[in-house]
Amino acid sequence: MSDMQGKVVVITGASSGIGEATARLLASQGAHVVMGARRLERLEALVSEIRAEGGSVVYQKLDVTVLEEMKRIIRLAQIKFGCIDVVINNAGVMPVSLLEVLKIDEWNRMIDVNIRGVLHGIAAGLPIMKKQGFGHFINVASTGAYEVTPTASVYCATKYAVRAITDGLRQEVGSDIRVTLVSPGVTESELAESITDEDARQMMKEYRRNALPALAIAQAISYAIQQPANVDVNELVIRPTSA
Ligand code: NDP
Repeated sequence: MSDMQGKVVVITGASSGIGEATARLLASQGAHVVMGARRLERLEALVSEIRAEGGSVVYQKLDVTVLEEMKRIIRLAQIKFGCIDVVINNAGVMPVSLLEVLKIDEWNRMIDVNIRGVLHGIAAGLPIMKKQGFGHFINVASTGAYEVTPTASVYCATKYAVRAITDGLRQEVGSDIRVTLVSPGVTESELAESITDEDARQMMKEYRRNALPALAIAQAISYAIQQPANVDVNELVIRPTSA
């Protein structure tokens, strides 16, 4: 039996890219998957495909910037499957540009989704995990949590923040709850589609030429989950070999 069998896993941002690949992989390994995102038609189609393969999956509309919606999807997981083993705070946006272009709304959106979204996942999941006496947070950061690249100052700042929050959480929660930071390098997904600045878009196109398949990140997440309960994989950084 796989160590994924029967685990209840909530995934934010499951409608495309890394979240979608993770939902597919974990369901195929026997997890009960609870998917959240804003694009419901994507989630509906994905649910049908996963169920056709024999997977156990439910979904709910989720905007991670709204704490109440995050609490609601955690409640759904409890009601449907009885507990929560893992919360994967994966949802993120990356509308990068030079600071001097002053795309202030986009800075704020990155802060809201990438930082507040992760904090909302923790706020919704932590009290329940503490009560259960077990749980696992997996927060998706980026190699941008370790180095800043041109046009990506605010995006990287949000990912540095996710790394800081994740490390702080790990130190606070002690032995019952595991905490893992997963930091992908460039990976195939729809992330770059949120870039509205033409120069940044061109730069990113070059940069993203050697992207990893999203499955590579899903496999790293699966590895962290499948370790014995007393093994906490603290950080995984996954880059293409060419990077
Ligand atoms: P995608 O754009 O393919 O996926 C992002 C997901 O986040 C989508 O499912 C989207 O769903 C969801 N999302 C965006 N805003 C919200 C919101 N407010 N509430 C809920 N869900 C939201 O990109 P990736 O798969 O690449 O991104 C996943 C994570 O990986 C992000 O945190 C990203 O920063 C990180 N990452 C990605 C890298 C890459 O090269 N691809 C590299 C390093 C890190 P919907 O729009 O339906 O709500």
